[in-house]
Amino acid sequence: MASALVWLRGDLRMADNPALDHACNEHDDVVPVFAWHARDGDAWALGTASRWWLSHSLRALDKSLRKAGNALVLLRGCAVTELPALAQKAGAKAVYWNRVYEPAAMAQEREVEAALQAAGVATRAFNASLLHEPWHSGKKDGEPYLVFTPFWRALMTRGEPEEPLPAPEIVPWKRERTPLLKVEDLDIEPSLPADAHLAEEWKPGEAGAQQALARFLEVCAAYAVDRERPDVTGTSRLSPHLRFGEIGPRQVWHALRNHMERKVSAERGCDALLRQIVWREFGYHLLHHHPNLPDQCLRPEFARFPWKREERLLHAWQQGRTGYPIVDAAMRELAASGWMHNRSRMLAASFLVKHLLQPWQDGARWFWDRLVDADLANNTLGWQWVSGCGADAAPYFRIFNPVLQGRKFDPDGAYVRRWLPELRNVPAACIHEPWKAPAAVLSAAGVRLGEHYPEPIVAHDSARRAALAAYATISRP
Ligand code: FAD
Repeated sequence: MASALVWLRGDLRMADNPALDHACNEHDDVVPVFAWHARDGDAWALGTASRWWLSHSLRALDKSLRKAGNALVLLRGCAVTELPALAQKAGAKAVYWNRVYEPAAMAQEREVEAALQAAGVATRAFNASLLHEPWHSGKKDGEPYLVFTPFWRALMTRGEPEEPLPAPEIVPWKRERTPLLKVEDLDIEPSLPADAHLAEEWKPGEAGAQQALARFLEVCAAYAVDRERPDVTGTSRLSPHLRFGEIGPRQVWHALRNHMERKVSAERGCDALLRQIVWREFGYHLLHHHPNLPDQCLRPEFARFPWKREERLLHAWQQGRTGYPIVDAAMRELAASGWMHNRSRMLAASFLVKHLLQPWQDGARWFWDRLVDADLANNTLGWQWVSGCGADAAPYFRIFNPVLQGRKFDPDGAYVRRWLPELRNVPAACIHEPWKAPAAVLSAAGVRLGEHYPEPIVAHDSARRAALAAYATISRP
C-alpha cells in the first residue's frame, strides 16, 4: 500500500488543493495532517483572532474529511520533527504540501524538506495560495516591481491563471483507527476579549468561504462604488477565508471571470475585485523580495522618522477612544468583529501614524493580533502604504481629515452609530465632529463629551502641522 502524508497549513480546503489532489490520485493511503506549534518567541506567531479562526477552520476541515471517509490528523509540536516521525510511523513514502509564502514558513519548509529527505521520504510542494509564484512575477530584468500598475499590467498579459481543481475523490482512511487528537487538545483557541463577538460575524471553513463568494456575486455590480463605503456591506469579506486558504485566489478569479461573461452589468465590479486580488498578489511579491518588510520600511529614509512613541495615545487608539468618531468606529469594529473595512483601515492607520505620530509597526502589531484576516503580506503592505514608507505608497504629506472623510464615506453616520452606540442619537449633521455640536443637541442625544464619549485627543490642524514638520526632517535631501 503506497502511503502519503498531506501537510496542511494555509490551504484549509478540499477544492483547488493541488497537494491533496495529487496525493489522492497517486496513493492508495492518504493521511491529511496539521502540525501545531505555538512558536513561542516567533515575532509573527498567530494573533488572538487568527487563532480563533484557525481552530474553527480546522474543525470544519476535519468534518469535511470525515464525511469523505478520512480525517485530519493533528500533531502537537514542530513540523520539522513531527512530520518525519509520523511518516515513519505511517510507512509514508512521500509528503505533499502547498507552499506558504511567509519568510518564517518558507524557512521551516526548507528544514522539513531536509529532514524528510534525510529520512528517505520524498517531498512535493505546490502553489495553492497565489495566482502565480512570487519569484515568477518580477520585471524582465529580474528586479521586483515596486509600483502596482506595471505589476498589474504584466500579470494581465501573462494570460489566465490555471483553472481551479475540483475537490478530489478523497482516499478513505485505511489504517486502524487509533484515537486522534482533537482541535481542543492543541490549545489553539484563545479566550477572546469580552467585546469580541467573532462567532456572530463569521463562518470559518470552506463552506463559509463559498457562501461569502456567492453572496458577493449577487451584489458585485455595485462593488466599484460601494467598496469605498464602510456603512454598506459592499465588499466580499473574503479576506479571512483567503488568509486561511479556505478558498484560493484561482477559484475567486475564475468565478469572477465566469460571472462577468454571463452578466455584463457585473463587469465593472468584478474587474475591480480582480484588481484587489492582484493587490494581494503584489503584497506577496514584495514580501518575497523584501522579507524584512514586516519590521522595516521599504524607503530607508523612514528609519530616521521622529516617531513620538507614547503609550497613552496608542492605548486610546486601540480602545477606539480618540474622540474622532470615524476612527473610533473603525477600531471598535475591529474589536467586535475581528475585521475592518478597507477605507476604515486606511483612516484608522493614517490617524495613528500622522495625527498621533506613533510608529506604524505598533499599529500593525495591534491589527495582527485582532484581525481574523491578519496576513503578513497584506498587513505590511497596507501599513507601509498608509505611512508613505512602502512601495507605491500614499505620500506621507497627504493627510486625511477624519471629519471630511467621515462625511464623505459615512454620510448618514450609520457606520458610526453601529459601532459607537453612545453616539446613536447624535444627528448626522454633527456626528463626525460632535465637539462642534450645540450643547442642546448633545444633551438631547444623551451625550456628555469627556464622559460618555471623549473630546478629540488632538486637534486636526495642529496634528497635521506636527506631522508635516516631522516629515520635513527626513524628506530634506
Ligand atoms: P474586498 O474588497 O472584497 O477584496 C477582495 C480581496 O482582495 C480581499 O479579501 C484581499 O485578499 C484582497 N485585497 C483587497 N484589498 C487589498 C489591499 N489593499 N491590499 C492587499 N489585498 C487586498 N488585508 C488582509 O487580507 N489582511 C490584512 O492583515 C490586511 N491589513 C491591512 C492593513 C491596512 C492598514 C490596510 C490599509 C489594509 C489592509 N488589508 C489587509 C487590505 C484590505 O483592507 C483587506 O484585504 C480588505 O479590507 C478585506 O476585506 P474584503 O475581503 O471584503 O475585501
